[in-house]
Amino acid sequence: MEHKHWKEGVEAFQAIHFKKHEEEFRELVEKGQSPKALFIGCSDSRVLPNLITNTGPGDLFVMRNVGNFVPPFKPDNDFHATAAAIEYAAFNLRVEEIIVCGHSDCGACKALYEDHSAYADEIPHTIKWLELGMDAKALALRSVGEGDKKALQEATEKFSVLYQLKNLLTYPNVKRRVEEGSLFLHGWWYDIASGKVEYYDPETKTFLPLISEEEA
Ligand code: ZN
Repeated sequence: MEHKHWKEGVEAFQAIHFKKHEEEFRELVEKGQSPKALFIGCSDSRVLPNLITNTGPGDLFVMRNVGNFVPPFKPDNDFHATAAAIEYAAFNLRVEEIIVCGHSDCGACKALYEDHSAYADEIPHTIKWLELGMDAKALALRSVGEGDKKALQEATEKFSVLYQLKNLLTYPNVKRRVEEGSLFLHGWWYDIASGKVEYYDPETKTFLPLISEEEA
């Protein structure tokens, strides 16, 4: 197996980034982690939570999956990676914030509009998983229609963030902590091409720039 490329990467990590954060890593092992936030983002290779937020070791507990979806609370005998990460972050680590971050050009949101029946046997988990975006698709179609594909895609990505936040509240511990004011939920949308982040403002019911024009 060819390791050359990865060796170079790990070498560079050890020489540059590990060296820079060595003390922090040691301290985080001694004291354990206590991240401030759970970041739920897409597995998309262009969405890099620590890079986007300029955070480092110990800052974010990260859960990335296809489409940054949050399945509703459903304890059964199956395996639920996203649910386990949410429970661990909210209950065990007691993070103070949960960020659900959607993004532009999201393949999962695009896939909501495609027919996958021809290869259903090859990707059954993916097809099932995409059901978590169907409410957003329906709302986007009702709101912006099919005329402007770019606007429809962006609306789907943003509405999806809101549905995932809604699903987060089906987790008893999350709901309790939000109600008692010890946990705050944020809905974000990251624009890959510009590097800009928008957040959902419940008062205006719109996504607004996280960094305003004056601050930029
Ligand atoms: Zn995505």
